[in-house]
This record gives sequence, structure tokens and C-alpha cells, in this order.
Amino acid sequence: MNVRVRFAPSPTGPLHIGGVRTALYNYLFARQNGGKMILRIEDTDQTRFVPGAEQYIIEALDWLGIEFDEGVHIGGPYGPYRQSDRKPMYRQYADQLIRDGWAYYAFDRPEALDAKRKEYEAQKKTFQYDCTTRGSMENSISLGMEEAQRRIDAGVPYVVRFMFPDNIDITVHDLIRGDVTMNSRLLDDKVLFKSDGMPTYHLANIVDDHTMEITHVIRGEEWLPSAPLHVMLYKAFGWQAPMFAHLPLLLKPEGNGKLSKRDGDRLGFPVFPLEWHDPKSGEVSSGYREQGYLPQAVVNMLALLGWNPGKREGDNGANPVFQELMTMDELIKLFDISHISKNGAKFNLDKAKWFQHEYFQQLSDDTVADMLDKQVKARGIEAPREYVAKVASMMKERITFPSELWDTCCYFFQAPTEYNEKDVAKRWQPGMENHMAKVIEILQTVPFEHDAIHQALLEDYIKANQLNTGAIMNSLRLAVVGRTVGPDMITLVLTLGKKETISRVQRAIEKLKTEN
Ligand code: GLU
Repeated sequence: MNVRVRFAPSPTGPLHIGGVRTALYNYLFARQNGGKMILRIEDTDQTRFVPGAEQYIIEALDWLGIEFDEGVHIGGPYGPYRQSDRKPMYRQYADQLIRDGWAYYAFDRPEALDAKRKEYEAQKKTFQYDCTTRGSMENSISLGMEEAQRRIDAGVPYVVRFMFPDNIDITVHDLIRGDVTMNSRLLDDKVLFKSDGMPTYHLANIVDDHTMEITHVIRGEEWLPSAPLHVMLYKAFGWQAPMFAHLPLLLKPEGNGKLSKRDGDRLGFPVFPLEWHDPKSGEVSSGYREQGYLPQAVVNMLALLGWNPGKREGDNGANPVFQELMTMDELIKLFDISHISKNGAKFNLDKAKWFQHEYFQQLSDDTVADMLDKQVKARGIEAPREYVAKVASMMKERITFPSELWDTCCYFFQAPTEYNEKDVAKRWQPGMENHMAKVIEILQTVPFEHDAIHQALLEDYIKANQLNTGAIMNSLRLAVVGRTVGPDMITLVLTLGKKETISRVQRAIEKLKTEN
């Protein structure tokens, strides 16, 4: 079989990370099977169209390395790939369904439908346009085809509705959930086509999947309730249905309900791949890219939200822990629809950060040096490239996001101007100035290298005089950094250099003495 899958978003706003995961799973499946990955834009609902959304979707997937073989942005043999550009082709299919008795014209005005709904509500019932009610509505079943045609010719607006047979069981074969069966009595006669010539999502989706020869429909769980209609549409057209896989929802970190933008705002993480500027409200929503996440980290994290590769190869099953870090190529190799969970997957911010940290560590020292270099320059500080590179490689393991670089490394580039009060109270004991003066003396006299400084300071001075190592070394750190953080003290001194270290210690002696 020539596998062909599609990602079919509607351009109604920024792409939610749940949608990104859908695209990713389609991509992994296509690549694994040597198949084709298609980007189709489903914009039949013009009322929900948002300018810029299509471009956003393309840019986001491109950033993440999810590639397409055909699509709205690159063309292909099954185009056009935007439903509004395919508009002329749908009418014939609506006509075919009417001709074959699978659909009918309906003329009910929105006010009439509203009144019907209210009438049912008053009796604590829900109105459904179906085989039990369609006879009492205004359509080509109740009015007859001749009258319907007369109205159409007179320009009366209409819709085409699917006609579900009464009381039949419809089964959707789902690759994740198995057989899902629903009785047609539970389903309403969905609108497929409108007299303005626009199909609805349902008709366009089925016609496009068929004419684009899609073999597998992999999409979000929210489409499962529509799947029986889709199965019936394939039957009505006499077409073979693709295979279906409905993916589990992405849930809030607490697990109750779908992950929303509000959860992201509340807990401080983006739910969109890229920053989004809402063209109407002007509201800005944060994006993974702009927060400094690496695309590989986002891909790896999303891949494991709802799927895992099972146990490691060669594992006898005693140890269910699987390899969590996977490159795109490894994901392609290991992906397996049958391992997708039926249950929703809870978003986990700590896990997202863990992936980010792991992938940040995989960046070359040079790349991290470039990032730091920019941040240093942005503050008007001149520093030799080798020095920046040295600091970057020394500090990389402490970094998760590029934005943390400056804060974590700033004391390598500027002397502290103030000293953390708590650290001072705890470490800078009375008389500490004398110890610091001694440190200066040592640095001035012994060879400026690790072992000599270590011997002179820690052994010959502190240990030999039975002084408190913690108090002295942390005070030295306080003097050099401004707070008690940073790498190994002697490494820090050696990196800063003799002159700079001594000047910082000197300054701390003056400042902290007068303040005490
Ligand atoms: N246009 C639908 C959406 O926005 C696609 C549903 C499908 O994949 O069939 O999610």
C-alpha cells in the first residue's frame, strides 16, 4: 500500500500543541512507511477564518522539522490543497448524494430551527434533525422533490442534509480504539452543503480524503463523534474508507479536561509552538520557540504525550522503562500506532523542561558561545571570543533556556556591585576582612595555577590555622560573585584572572567593612 496521510488544520488561529502532535504522528507514520505527508487547509467555514493562521501553521511545522511532500505551500499532483480553492468541485458530490437518495434539500430558516429547539427544550427534550423529525420540517422529503426544485429555481436558500437510515448500527474501525459502534438514531442529519456553493467540513473532508487518495486518517479524538457520519458518507459514495486512528486528548497537568491556553497562562508555559499575535484583539500568546525551547525538545516531548515505544529492544519485559530521548529519525523508526494510548495524556511542564535541558546539553559549545556572546554584546560589554567560549562551556550544564545564560554567567563579565544580604549575614563573619586580605596576599605571591593556589589557601592557610573552610571560601565567593553561586572557586578565580579577582576582593573588603 502507498501510505498517504494528511494534516488538515483549519486556519482559525494559532496551532495548539495538540494539533502539532497530530501533525507529528502523521509525519512519523508517513516516513516510517515510505509514504507521503500532505498539508491540506480546511477553510470551508469562512466565518472562523483568521488572517495569518495558515502562514503560522506552515512556519510552526517547519520550525519543528515536520516536513511535507505535498501541500498548500508546495503544491503537488493532487492540488489545490486549500478547500476554498477547491470550491467548484464539491457540488457534484452533493448532487450525487441527493440523486442516490442519501441526502435531501432543506429550507428551514434559522428562526424556524431555533423555534423548534426552544419548543423541545420547554419539554426538557433536545431537538435533533433526524428520521423522526425530518418529516415535520421544510425539506424535499416533506415537500416533495418538485416543490423543492421550484423553490431552488426561485432562489430560496437551502442546505443539503445527509439522510441517516433509521436504526442501523454504524461501526468505525479505529486503529487505537478498536471497533466503535453507534446507532444512527443518535446522529442528526448533518448539513453537507449550502446554497452559497460551500460544502461543510464533513463533505469537503470526505471528498478530499478520497480524491487525494488518503489511506490513513490520523486525527484528534474530538473527531470521533463525526466518524460514523464519515463512514456512512464513504458507503454512500461507494468509496473505500481510509483507516482511522483517533488520538487521545492532551490534558491539563492535573488531568481533568483538555489542555487550554488558560492552563498555560495559569502555570506559565506556552500551548502554542510559536508566539502568536492575535490580529483582532492584539493579544500576544507565548510560543515555545520564543521561550527558547529547542525544536527537537518539543518534538520529543510531544511524541511521548500519548505514545511510547514500549520496552527497550532485547528487554525481557522485566524493566518497562524505555528510552526517552529520541531523535526524529529514532522516533520514525520506533513509532507504532498500536502503542498509542486510548487515555488522554497529561501535559507535564517539568518533563518539558527536562527534555529542553537534555537537548540544550547536546548543543555544541560553539553554539552556546554564540548565544552568550550575543547577550554579552547586547549589554555593551566587550569580551574576547575565547573567554566567552570558555565561560559558555563551563556553565552550559547549568542552563536549560538560552535566556538564562546571562543571569547565570554575568559575574564573569562584570564585577558585583552589591552583595546578597542573606549570604553576607551568614558568611561574612567579623574579622573576615583580615582573611580576605590574606587571600589577596596569597594570590599575589603564589604561582597563579590551581594546585599552588589550593595548597597555599586551603592547606597552608585555612587548614593549618584550623579556620572555617566554608566561611572563608563562601566569603571569597561572595566577594567575587556577589552571591554564593557559581562553579568551583579556584576554577572561577583562574577564569577571572589574578587582577580582576584581587580587585573584586579588595572592593568587597571596603564595601562590606563599612557596611558592617
Ligand atoms: N479541519 C479539521 C481540524 O481542524 C481536521 C479534522 C480531520 O483531520 O479530519 O481539526
